[in-house]
Amino acid sequence: MRVTDITMPSGIATRPRDGRGYPVPAITPWEGGAPQFAETSMRRVFLCVEERRCTVCGREMSPGPVWRVVDGDEAGMIDAVLGIGKEFLNPAPTGEAPGHRTCMIYAAMVCPFLSSPEGRRGQASNMYGANLPKGDARGAGGAIVAYQDYEFKQTPAGPGVVYGKPIEIITYDRAEDLQDELAAALSNDETVTGKSPAWLGEDEQLLESAFRQAMLSPVERQALAAQKRAAQSKKRQQKQARASRKKNR
Ligand SMILES: [Zn+2]
Repeated sequence: MRVTDITMPSGIATRPRDGRGYPVPAITPWEGGAPQFAETSMRRVFLCVEERRCTVCGREMSPGPVWRVVDGDEAGMIDAVLGIGKEFLNPAPTGEAPGHRTCMIYAAMVCPFLSSPEGRRGQASNMYGANLPKGDARGAGGAIVAYQDYEFKQTPAGPGVVYGKPIEIITYDRAEDLQDELAAALSNDETVTGKSPAWLGEDEQLLESAFRQAMLSPVERQALAAQKRAAQSKKRQQKQARASRKKNR
């Protein structure tokens, strides 16, 4: 299946593109004008979670379940517990934050690592000690899972995204298996509204300042806002003074 044959959700169609014309996900960092597809920026992940934004298109997600792609092992486990109506909670943190149902189905179909059992990981990862070597194959089966909720948390294993209860699962093996699911999701595309902020684009400096802003404590934020108000009112006073001097001349 060719990537160009797969219809883009509206939110993804407005993403910045790489040199080949491929849309760049919101959590992909940029370096020297080029997207680093094999990497995930934890700052971008953190900000997306904080603002409940989709990690693929960058637009806000409405209240309700959120979606992510999981590998074969986790898919099998979740499928089994949902089948017998048992509750399954995985307290381990992950670097993968969720997105819209439409965007996650699309990502599973076009991402070279997720779209087939032979897909290879582009870069080694040692997140949370899992130590996934470069070139590791995805393996059989995968799934797009809906979770009731999620949050960015400090855990004994490190900071990351922790998911709540899984409530729905769409299993697949290859991109083709998801064609009907994507068509159904696109007929009610949840990504048509909203806007991705400029700091989730190619300018890493904008991202940096958005992250710094988010890191401020409530007291620091109040102090900054007070400073800004004081500066504005001073400007207003100067303007009035100039105007009245002009009048009195
Ligand atoms: Zn999205």
